[in-house]
Amino acid sequence: MVTMFSSLGKNISTLTRMCPLCHYGQASALGLCRVCFNDLPRCPPVDLTVHMAQAPKGVRLILASLWYMAEVRYWLAAFKFRGRSGEANAMATLICAQAVQHYRQQQLKLPNYLLPVPMTKKAWAARGYNQAQLLAEAVSELLGIPVWYGVVRTKQNIKAHKLGAKARRQVLNESFRQVGKLPRGTRIALIDDVLTTGATLGAIASILPRAGIIVDAWTLAYTPPPMLNKERY
Ligand SMILES: [Zn+2]
Repeated sequence: MVTMFSSLGKNISTLTRMCPLCHYGQASALGLCRVCFNDLPRCPPVDLTVHMAQAPKGVRLILASLWYMAEVRYWLAAFKFRGRSGEANAMATLICAQAVQHYRQQQLKLPNYLLPVPMTKKAWAARGYNQAQLLAEAVSELLGIPVWYGVVRTKQNIKAHKLGAKARRQVLNESFRQVGKLPRGTRIALIDDVLTTGATLGAIASILPRAGIIVDAWTLAYTPPPMLNKERY
């Protein structure tokens, strides 16, 4: 009997999930071990558009939960490139915490819909999932806001670095197409994993109707510009 219990205990312990960051601690309900979770480089719950070199047009406010630094890069790489799609739940918790705090502080109404930044069918087939969609679905579960799939992507990873900024924007804008209707007065939150220049968010906002639609963006991580002085936050 003792042998049976000890082998049962051994089997249970092998089922315990290791922290995907340190591979040492036991992952808690937060997805990471408590040490790694507490060490995450958090962004303050502020609108980042005012700190961006060129904020995307048509996007009212942008929130990010984490700075895109070493451990966050590693965690996101596991999520995007090593098939660890289950990380979306822990990441969504961070996105929700940031959004709820900011909207409460600013006395804003939460969005009516979440819109994950779409992928082309080809890119989806290569990865097997769209990380932004998984994040949006997990955020939807937590906040009870439905996901809206009314935008599709027709071109992915455009190598437009030789083009000027205007031409690049034009090409990016042509990568998205609206396929679903939005009632006037709708509030939308675009959901993405990483925010860099905001050009993708601006491209999606540009194809949505201007009148009566409010577009916000919630991302997990933000790549700060090199000269960013974090003391400003
Ligand atoms: Zn850990």
